[in-house]
Amino acid sequence: MQFGMRSGLDFAEHDTDSTFLLSVFGDNLQSYTILSDERQIAFVRNSNEQAAHIRMEYGYSNIVTAFRFGKPLNANNPTADIWETSAEEFYYPFIANTHMDIRAEFVAPDSVEVIASYPVHRQGDSYICEAKNIISHSLHFAYLNKKHYIVDTIGICGKKVPLYQMKKRLLSDSEKADMANVLCRAAEYFESVFGDSYWSEKHGVSVMSILFEPTFYGLRQNVNFMSSPIDDSTYYAFGLVHEMGHRWLGEYNLLIADGQLGAYFIKESLNVFMRMMFGRATGLYDWQQEMQKRRKSYDEIKGTKRDCALIDMRYNSNFDVVYSKGPVILDDFAQRIGYDEMVRIIGEFYRRYDQKIGLRYEDFISTVADLHPEIADELDRRLRSI
Ligand SMILES: [Zn+2]
Repeated sequence: MQFGMRSGLDFAEHDTDSTFLLSVFGDNLQSYTILSDERQIAFVRNSNEQAAHIRMEYGYSNIVTAFRFGKPLNANNPTADIWETSAEEFYYPFIANTHMDIRAEFVAPDSVEVIASYPVHRQGDSYICEAKNIISHSLHFAYLNKKHYIVDTIGICGKKVPLYQMKKRLLSDSEKADMANVLCRAAEYFESVFGDSYWSEKHGVSVMSILFEPTFYGLRQNVNFMSSPIDDSTYYAFGLVHEMGHRWLGEYNLLIADGQLGAYFIKESLNVFMRMMFGRATGLYDWQQEMQKRRKSYDEIKGTKRDCALIDMRYNSNFDVVYSKGPVILDDFAQRIGYDEMVRIIGEFYRRYDQKIGLRYEDFISTVADLHPEIADELDRRLRSI
């Protein structure tokens, strides 16, 4: 039986590169082939009855890969460079939605600080990141140019939270106080809904830390660090609340593969709705105004070619549908059964399917059917049709 690992690296181009290294060892492993065109490594097992355990040593110089992944630190981008497995940046081989152990070693000059989605420690001129049993696509790291960054800490819910800030745009004291309050209230609210703390050993989340970056990157949840764009004017603590929500409702918990029916209803629409429910529960921001805005965005595409069914959001390919239509449909049904009940359904969905491999859209509908059978069929129809 053959199975493959995705890898963004173009192996063919590296055949003569002396800094490139790939060694494969394994139990129950007969052979492996590098399929350059498909950007995959294919493995053949000795026996189909037994699992194959694979150990790979994989190395390259970042000078080579920097041309392919992320935006390297250079004159045009002097501040930060995030490497992540989302956005098709497969800078190491993995099988999505499985678990693996990793030991990553980053060699970086003194002028660069490395942070990663799992804790790193410095050893000589290397940064070492070791983590066991992680979701295979969850290793991200960022290079920060120390000349342009300072590391600060703030207290959130009594925990020390590192803040990586660009010197040219530091948060004011009142922005920091506001952020600490909003994020602590969000951690408390989501814990009350999902039953699990933000800080969770099981999920590998030992710290919360926040990286502010130049505006050309989007907001991201990267396990132990969240990243947020910032410039002279924009800074929005509630953007980070959405990222916090991905700790429970996102690609490292709800393991529905890209390409599956409704994948981005599960990975994004539910989380967008839950941030509004945080606003509703705490009164910290005007969630009804946000819902109205999303209703308007959806109304603008309704009946046009851009409108499609949530079930067809196999990839994050239509923001109006994923981020507006999805939450609006949830809102319509929440008005019928009560908002607290819709929140209870979403909380229960997380509890049942947290880190379960092979999640499907149907698992969400079956959770609805168990808790509120009277809306399950109709909600399913709404999500399946335009
Ligand atoms: Zn999101």
